[in-house]
Amino acid sequence: AVNQAKSAALDDAKLIGITVDKKLDFSGWYQQVLTKGEMLDYYDVSGCYILRPASYAIWEVIQKWFDDKIKAIGVENAYFPMFVSARVLEKEKDHVEGFAPEVAWVTRAGSSELEEPIAIRPTSETVMYPYYAKWIQSYRDLPIKLNQWNSVVRWEFKHPQPFLRTREFLWQEGHTAHLTKQDAEEEVLQILDFYAGVYEELLAVPVVKGKKTEKEKFAGGDFTTTCEGYIPQTGRGIQGATSHHLGQNFSKMFNISVENPLGPEHPKVFAHQNSWGLSTRVIGVMVMIHSDNKGLVLPPRVAQRQCVVLPVGISAKTTDEQRAAIHQKAKEVEQRLRAANIRAFGDYNDHYTPGWKFAQYELKGIPLRLEFGPKDMAQDQILVVRRNDNRKYTVKLSDLESRVPEILEEMQKDLFSRAKELFDTHRVMVDEWKNFVPALNKKNVIVSPWCGVTECEEDIKDSSAKRDDGEEFEADEKAPSMGAKTLCIPFEQPKLRKDQLCVKCERKAIQYTMFGRSY
Ligand code: AMP
Repeated sequence: AVNQAKSAALDDAKLIGITVDKKLDFSGWYQQVLTKGEMLDYYDVSGCYILRPASYAIWEVIQKWFDDKIKAIGVENAYFPMFVSARVLEKEKDHVEGFAPEVAWVTRAGSSELEEPIAIRPTSETVMYPYYAKWIQSYRDLPIKLNQWNSVVRWEFKHPQPFLRTREFLWQEGHTAHLTKQDAEEEVLQILDFYAGVYEELLAVPVVKGKKTEKEKFAGGDFTTTCEGYIPQTGRGIQGATSHHLGQNFSKMFNISVENPLGPEHPKVFAHQNSWGLSTRVIGVMVMIHSDNKGLVLPPRVAQRQCVVLPVGISAKTTDEQRAAIHQKAKEVEQRLRAANIRAFGDYNDHYTPGWKFAQYELKGIPLRLEFGPKDMAQDQILVVRRNDNRKYTVKLSDLESRVPEILEEMQKDLFSRAKELFDTHRVMVDEWKNFVPALNKKNVIVSPWCGVTECEEDIKDSSAKRDDGEEFEADEKAPSMGAKTLCIPFEQPKLRKDQLCVKCERKAIQYTMFGRSY
């Protein structure tokens, strides 16, 4: 009977577990990992999703980390309304052209039509800057550095993807105005470093920092800096987060200006502005990169729960006293870990087998499983098992508080190195066009010498929408054939050969640029 119950429990575990292979059906796998891992649920408005506590907790870790960083450089939090009038939204022409197709409008309240439709912010430049103009009266009012943690709405028509591309998403948007261009430019890069830190230090996801091309930059800005990630399974790039230098375009439009500090005989100064945003997309990137066929794999630094303590090895032969002693000692382990600031919990439920529990906590991505049984009891030790690679450590109970944090940190580093190796080996240098599409089809992103001309950029995109065998490339069933876009002009540049030509056209190359099929 015991065996029968055990095998029934195992069948249950299979059912609640992931039933599709990450390699064979990536998008089906992604959906299951998120829903079965209780990160997210689908909602009846297409493109909108529910963030459940397991993912919101990760967002909170990111919020806290990033909020501390920006406050240390003088940024303050504020909150502006989510609605914007058509008149104000349309003030900066390039900007509104960039966002117009995705803006959602409120046209009715109850049964009455609004006299003027009101837009829901796709981003808040136009919401905030009229007030910057009002508040900034003297150069002494500069810099102004505000951030808000909010949601924005972009009614995108591209295939929605949980976290990566959603119609409403959570993010932070920072908006700063400076007296000098130099101050603004320094800050843009400082923020980009923080973004890279969110990916690399918290989420164990490697990124490449660089600048967007003119075609891909933020609508209405001067230049956009970005950190770009890579999803090995699909070979596609993903824009991680962006920090924009807006120049004086918006300050001229909204009249954010001050008297010249050099004196009234000098022309007035328009503020130099930046805006920067990081969204819940980061969570999707992390899941796609680390998780596997057993479920979520969460980097310890962001995991809401880092260790699960489980009594094991209790059988029909175990006496009640032995069982009670094991439970009690396991609870002590849990308490000691918590006292050492490790986010530990225990599961002492006797109705589920250890095997069933293992599967459950693997599905949820708990970084470490601590198994405690009669043998461990006798030898004053505990077995620690890493979620990512099943690596096992026997830890003396006397070393608990020092060893467990070390193992968590090693796991964090190993997740990063493995992801970095995949990115490094799939970022290939291609100098000749004939090698470009074949390399792309091998799930690489490509670094090529490029001329910097928008026409050529479009040509590369069109020409790479075909496979090397002439067939149209299908990224997935729902996406149209996809060509390679420029992802960024990496800050770290390989040395360009003298007279090096563009990878695609006859012009001279001016820099190396990273290309890829992308999300
Ligand atoms: P942007 O204001 O367009 O530069 O966007 C800022 C950041 O938000 C981007 O770098 C993306 O990482 C993220 N983002 C943009 N659109 C979406 C979306 N539809 N869903 C989730 N994140 C997004």
